[in-house]
Amino acid sequence: MNSYDVAIIGSGPGGYVAAIRCAQLGLKTAIIEKYTTLGGTCLNVGCIPSKALLDSSHHYEDAIKHFEEHGIDIPGEIKVNLKQMIARKQSVVDTTTGGIDFLMKKNNIDVYQGLGSFKDATHIIIKGDKDTEIEAKNIIIATGSKPSNLPFITLDKERVITSTEALKLKEIPKHMIVIGGGVIGLELGQVYKRLGAEVTVIEYMDRIIPTMDAGLSKELNKVLKKQKFKINTSHKVKSVERIGDEVIVKADNKKGEEIEFKGDYCLVSVGRRPYTDGLNAEAAGVKLNERGQIDVNEHLQTSAKNIYAIGDVIKGAMLAHKAEEEGVFVAETIAGQKPHINYNLIPGVVYTWPEVASVGQTEEQLTEAGVEYKVGQFPMRALGRSRASMDLDGFVKILADKTTDEILGFHMVGARAADLIAEAVVAMEFRASAEDISRMSHAHPTFAEAIKEAALAATENRALHV
Ligand code: FAD
Ligand code: NAD
Repeated sequence: MNSYDVAIIGSGPGGYVAAIRCAQLGLKTAIIEKYTTLGGTCLNVGCIPSKALLDSSHHYEDAIKHFEEHGIDIPGEIKVNLKQMIARKQSVVDTTTGGIDFLMKKNNIDVYQGLGSFKDATHIIIKGDKDTEIEAKNIIIATGSKPSNLPFITLDKERVITSTEALKLKEIPKHMIVIGGGVIGLELGQVYKRLGAEVTVIEYMDRIIPTMDAGLSKELNKVLKKQKFKINTSHKVKSVERIGDEVIVKADNKKGEEIEFKGDYCLVSVGRRPYTDGLNAEAAGVKLNERGQIDVNEHLQTSAKNIYAIGDVIKGAMLAHKAEEEGVFVAETIAGQKPHINYNLIPGVVYTWPEVASVGQTEEQLTEAGVEYKVGQFPMRALGRSRASMDLDGFVKILADKTTDEILGFHMVGARAADLIAEAVVAMEFRASAEDISRMSHAHPTFAEAIKEAALAATENRALHV
C-alpha cells in the first residue's frame, strides 16, 4: 500500500493548489479525483468555460452593435456559429486541465483517478476500475460543490438545466428563463442574451446579486435592463413544468399574484451545495454541519484532527481564489507554519459587462455594525478612457472610515472591474487611507483613474473630473 504525508481528495482549485504547495514544502503528496480530468468545477464546468463563452459572446455583440460606429464595415451578415463557440470553449478547458496534469507531474504528485472514500481517518479507498487503498498521515478534503435545486423542480438537463448544461447547449434558446439573479444566472444569462435569446430573470430577493452592496445591484439592474434583460425581483418560483419544447415557470410576485413565464429553456441557478456524496466521512470521524458543509475550526481542521477541509465544501464564499488560499493555508499548517487568511479581503467579481467587483464591507454591513463612514463615488462616464472605448456605464465607490479615512469597502461596476479590484485589495491589505490612493499617480487614460477620483471624492470631496 502506498503511504503519503498528505492525500488530497478532489482536484479543483482548492485541491490541486494544496497539492502543489504540499509538494513545494517537501511533503509526499497524492491527489484523488473522481473524474478523468483534473481541475474540478472551476476548470471543467465553472470559471474557465463560462469566461470563454462570455468572451466569445462579447466579441459577437461588439461586432453586431459597435463595429459600425467604430468605422469597421463587415461585408455580409455576421452570424453566430454556436458549435464552433462551444468547441473553442472546450479547447480552452482542455488546455487548462492539461496544464494541471503537467503541474502534478512536475511536482512529483501521485494522481489517483476514482472516487475517494474514507475507510478510517488515515486510509482512503479509491473506487475506480479496481479499488486501490492508500494511507496518509494527513488528509485534505477538497470535494467542492454541485448545483443546488429547488425541491419541486425536475432537472431534465435538456431544457430545465443547470450551469453545466448551459455551457454546452446545441442551440441558442429563443427565451431562457433564469431562476436566480445571482452570479451564474447573470453571467450565463448574458452569454445567451448577447447571442440573441430573450432572457427573463426571476429572483426571490428584492434585488439581483443580493449579497453585494445594494448600489451595485441597482446599477447592474439598470444596465441589464438597457440590454433588454427582463428582471423580476421579489418573485417566489413555485413550479417549473416542461411540456414538449416549452418550459412553463410559475411564480408569485410581491402582491401574491401568480405570474406565468413561458420559455424554451430554464436555467436553475439558485446556488450550489457542498458535495460529500460517497466520501464516507463518518468512517473517519469527520462531522458535517446542519448545512451539509464539512465543519472546520479556525485552522480548517475537521473533527478528526489529521483531516482538514477547504473550498466550496466548507463555510464561506464559494470562490476559486478562496479555495486556493485555503489550499495554501492548510498545506503550510501541516508543514508546521503559521499562515493567515484575511477573509474580509477576498474579492467578489461578476463577469458580466460591465463587470462588477467588490471587496471589504458593504454600506449595509457598515450601517448595521454602527461604523461611521464616508462615501466617495465617481462615474465611469466621466473618464476619457471610457469615452474612447464606449464603456460608459458604472462607477467606483469607496467607503472610508469617517475618522481615520481607512478604506473599509470598495465597490465597482465598470469595464475591467475584475482586474481593477486588485488595486483595492492591495491598498486594503496595507490598510491604506482614501487619501493614500488619491495621492498616487494613476496612468492616463485608464479606467483605474476612476479609483483615484473616487478616493479624492472620499477624502475631501474634491474629485477633479466631475
Ligand atoms: P471544486 O472545483 O468543485 O472541485 C472539487 C473536485 O473534487 C471535483 O473535481 C470533484 O469531482 C472532486 N470530488 C468530489 N468528491 C470526490 C471524491 N469523493 N473522490 C474524488 N474526487 C472527488 N469562482 C470564481 O472564483 N470565479 C469565477 O469566475 C467562477 N465562475 C464560476 C462559474 C460557474 C458556472 C460555476 C459553476 C462556478 C464558478 N465559480 C467561480 C466557483 C468555483 O468554480 C468554485 O468556487 C471552485 O471550483 C471551488 O473549488 P474547490 O476546489 O473547492 O471544488
Ligand atoms: P448565487 O448565490 O450567486 O445566486 C443564487 C441566487 O438565486 C440568489 O440571488 C438567490 O437569492 C436566488 N434564489 C435562491 N432561491 C431562489 C428561488 N427559490 N427563486 C428565485 N431565486 C432564488 O448562486 P449561483 O449564481 O448559483 O452561483 C453559485 C456559486 O458559484 C456562488 O456562490 C458563486 O460564488 C459561485 N460563482 C462565482 C462566479 C464568479 O465568481 N464570477 C461565477 C459563477 C458562480
